Amino acid sequence: MAARNFDVIVVGAGPGGYVAAIRAAQLGKNVAIVEREHLGGICLNWGCIPTKALLRSAEVFHLMHRAKEFGLKADGIGYDLDAVVARSRGVAKQLSGGIGHLMKKNKITVFMGAATLPARGKVSVKTDKGTEELTAPAIILATGARARELPGLEADGDLVWTYKHALQPKRMPKKLLVIGSGAIGIEFASFFNTLGAEVTVCEVMDRVLPVEDAEISAFAKKAFVKQGMKILEKTTVKKLDRKPGVGVTAHLEDAKGTTTAEFDTVISAVGIVGNVENLGLEALGVKIDRTHVVTDEYCRTGVEGLYAIGDIAGAPWLAHKASHEGVMVAELIAGLHPHAIKPNSIAGCTYCHPQVASVGLTEQKAKDAGYTVKVGRFPFIGNGKAIALGEAEGMIKTVFDAKTGELLGAHMVGAEVTELIQGYVVGRSLETTEEDLMNTVFPHPTLSEMMHEAVLDAYGRALHI
Ligand SMILES: Cc1cc2nc3c(=O)[nH]c(=O)nc-3n(C[C@H](O)[C@H](O)[C@H](O)COP(=O)(O)OP(=O)(O)OC[C@H]3O[C@@H](n4cnc5c(N)ncnc54)[C@H](O)[C@@H]3O)c2cc1C
Repeated sequence: MAARNFDVIVVGAGPGGYVAAIRAAQLGKNVAIVEREHLGGICLNWGCIPTKALLRSAEVFHLMHRAKEFGLKADGIGYDLDAVVARSRGVAKQLSGGIGHLMKKNKITVFMGAATLPARGKVSVKTDKGTEELTAPAIILATGARARELPGLEADGDLVWTYKHALQPKRMPKKLLVIGSGAIGIEFASFFNTLGAEVTVCEVMDRVLPVEDAEISAFAKKAFVKQGMKILEKTTVKKLDRKPGVGVTAHLEDAKGTTTAEFDTVISAVGIVGNVENLGLEALGVKIDRTHVVTDEYCRTGVEGLYAIGDIAGAPWLAHKASHEGVMVAELIAGLHPHAIKPNSIAGCTYCHPQVASVGLTEQKAKDAGYTVKVGRFPFIGNGKAIALGEAEGMIKTVFDAKTGELLGAHMVGAEVTELIQGYVVGRSLETTEEDLMNTVFPHPTLSEMMHEAVLDAYGRALHI
C-alpha cells in the first residue's frame, strides 16, 4: 500500500497529542493522529478526569455526613462502590467520545493502532486491518507514560494495585497501604479514607506531598491525620509478602529499623515512566534520559522534524503542561514564534481533601536560589466566604522577592484552591509585582480575597488578621 502523506503526524492522543493535532489543523495543516488504545490518553481515561469524578462522590458523601451542621437532615447515608465507579467511567467515556468529535470537526485523520517510527519522517501504524505507512515532514511524539513498578512492589491487580486498578476497584479496601504521597497517591488515599477505609500512607521522603512548600505539607498532613489517616514519613516499603485471598504483609523500614504491618490492599503510586520503548527512537538517534526523551525548551528532540511533548518529555507530568507544549509545537511547525514554556509558571494541583495547589518556588527553594524573600500568609478562618461555606480549614502563602517585589511562588491548602491558583498563575505570567496585586480589587465575599490578604501580609498590611 502506498504511504499516505500528511503535513503533521501526532503519535498518541492524550492531552498533549490531541491538542497539538487540533492546533496544527487550525493553522491549516493536514494532520494525522495515531492512538493505540483510547482517544484522550491517560488524562481523560485513567487519570485527571476519572479520579476527579471519584473524589467528587467522596466529597458529596463527606458533606452528607455534615448535613446537621447546615441545618439539614440526611439519614441512612451510604454508598454503592460499583455505582460510584460506574459514574467515574461514564464521565471518562463521555469525554473520550468528545475527542472523537473534535478530531472530525477539525478534519484530523485518526488511525487507531500502535505506531513505530521506522525512519525519519515516517510512521508505521499496526491497525486491526494491517499496517499503514504514513509520512510527514513534522512528527510529534506524545506517547505519555505509565505507572512505575518497583521490584517486589509490582501490581498484581488483586492485592497490589496501580492507579488503573484503583480507579475501578473490585472491592472496598478495609486496610489500605498507599505507597508514595505524590498527587496520585494522596488523591487515592483521600478517596478511600473518606469512604471509610483505614488508610496508611508511606512516604520515603521527609514529608507528604514532598514537592509542596514545607508549611503546606505540614498543614495537609495534620488535616489527613485528623481525618484518620496514618502517615509514615522517611519510611521505605522494602518488601510485600502476598497471601492470596488474605492480604499483604508489608515490611517497612525507617531510621529506627524494620517493622511489619498487615493490609488487605496496597496501592503503588511511586511515580511514572515514559513510554519510550518499541518506537524505534534509538535507531533515529533520539536521546533518552532514563525514561524520557530529551528535548530543548521548544520540545525539539535534535532529530530534524521530530518533537516530543507531554509526559514522554519529562516533568512536570501534568496534562496542562502536555497541552500547552502541544500548542507551542504546532505553532512552531506552522512557522509562528511561540514562547517557550516556563516550568516555574506551571501550577500543580492535588484534589485531596483539603485540596492543595501551588505555582513557582517554595520558600525554601527561593532561599536556596539566593533570593531574600518576603512571605505572606492568610488562614481560611479569617475569610467570610470560607466560614459561610463551612470550609474554615486552610491557608494561603505567598513568596516574594524582597528586592523587586516579583511574586516567586504561591502555595495553598484548603477548599477550592485548585480553582484559585490560576489567579496567581496569570499574575506570574504577566510578571506581576506585589504592587499590582495589592492594587487589584478582589470581589467580596469570595475565597479569592485570601489571595489578596496573603499578598498584603507579606508587606505587613493584612486587614483581617
Ligand atoms: C491517576 C492519575 C491522576 C492524574 N491526575 C492529574 C490531574 O489531576 N491533573 C493533571 O494535570 N495531570 C494529572 N495526571 C497526569 C496526566 O494524566 C498526564 O500528565 C497526561 O495524561 C499526559 O498527557 P500526554 O498527552 O503526555 O500522555 P497520555 O495522556 O499518557 O497519552 C498518551 C497516549 O499515547 C498513546 N500511545 C502510547 N504509545 C503509543 C504508540 N506507540 N502508538 C500509538 N499510541 C500510543 C497511549 O495509548 C495514550 O493514549 C494524572 C495521572 C494519573 C495516572
